[in-house]
Amino acid sequence: MAVKYLNEISVKDKRVLIRVDYNVPYDKELNITDDTRITATVDTIKYCLENDAKIILISHLGRPKGKINETMTLKPVASRLSEIMGQPVNFIETPLGKETIDITNKMSQREIVLFENIRFYPEEEKNDLDFGKLIASHCDVYVNDAFATAHRAHASNWAVTKYVDVKCAGFLLKNEIEYSQKTLENAERPFGAIIGGAKVSSKLDALQNIIDKVDFMIIGGGMAFTFLKAQGYEVGNSLLETELLDEAKSILDKAQSKKIEILLPVDIICAEEFDNNSKTEICDISSIENNSIGLDIGPKSIELFKEKISKARTIIWNGPMGAFEMPNFANGTNQIAFALSDSDCLSIVGGGDSVTAINQAGVEDKISYISTGGGAFLELLEGKQLPGIEALK
Ligand code: AMP
Repeated sequence: MAVKYLNEISVKDKRVLIRVDYNVPYDKELNITDDTRITATVDTIKYCLENDAKIILISHLGRPKGKINETMTLKPVASRLSEIMGQPVNFIETPLGKETIDITNKMSQREIVLFENIRFYPEEEKNDLDFGKLIASHCDVYVNDAFATAHRAHASNWAVTKYVDVKCAGFLLKNEIEYSQKTLENAERPFGAIIGGAKVSSKLDALQNIIDKVDFMIIGGGMAFTFLKAQGYEVGNSLLETELLDEAKSILDKAQSKKIEILLPVDIICAEEFDNNSKTEICDISSIENNSIGLDIGPKSIELFKEKISKARTIIWNGPMGAFEMPNFANGTNQIAFALSDSDCLSIVGGGDSVTAINQAGVEDKISYISTGGGAFLELLEGKQLPGIEALK
């Protein structure tokens, strides 16, 4: 059975419980420093308001490990959401139980309530069925709009679904499913993936799954050195996973036999120390010195990758091209962001660092879709079914 979407469900006068992901960053005074995750749910909430629903929001924030932690309260989120929506948001600190069921039963149409951090309850991360049932007793319709937690089976996105008859995906989750999952299966070609980041090990499953779907794959970042070494190059003191050399070789062989082009860097920005102030040098990949660390892709690699990106119809990107947190090693990653923004292909970017790079480059408006999921996006690339989505079927 396919996942239903919110626009296919009648919500008029219903208690609609939306599992959102308001895991926003705070500064020390609990001011929200980035409200993207709140604004990302506005379409879903607006739709419910316009259709006269009663809106109950549940989210987690941080990792309180099943205990009340004042630094992880959702109270500031309620205030910010209220500003964004231009109406009151009733923040409920009362522990979930009969009292809160009474509150939701007495709600009026177009009223919004936000419950306190669901991870203050140890039952949440244990995916406790009774707790799921308790959550479900607050609603008539369950909506999941929290893609970033969809790769975890927790009470508020899995157990709860066993006790509600009407369940669906909100518009944020719908976009994630349509852009990421469906693109992987049905992309307009040429279809390419750009994979970067520190280690092959953390993305091995994704690399192996994607290679079966794309026409070309660009590999950059620290992980490129394991592939370069597998091709016989010396990589000096760059990141290297010796135990994965055979895996890297087998990915390269598989790509060759399936006529999938793998593009690796042809030149590297090297330094002697993992330090922004360390003197840098552009090295051809055949001349990386023993004491050098490769920390970014070089200008020829950038041109090579840009050229390939410009001819693609679909691109998926996860992971930076270098140690981009240090300005002197951010150019490769920024240039990939610019190349994507210049291209008219369908571009999908996911994973915290790649999204940061897109924002740093100021090109977020020119990307077709920026996923809100880090781990969840990676698991989709790995070809895994996500429990939070499966539970809605
Ligand atoms: P990941 O979480 O696997 O996507 O890795 C992201 C991290 O990889 C970032 O913190 C980057 O600084 C780091 N990274 C990317 N390229 C390199 C490199 N050549 N050497 C060391 N770290 C790198």
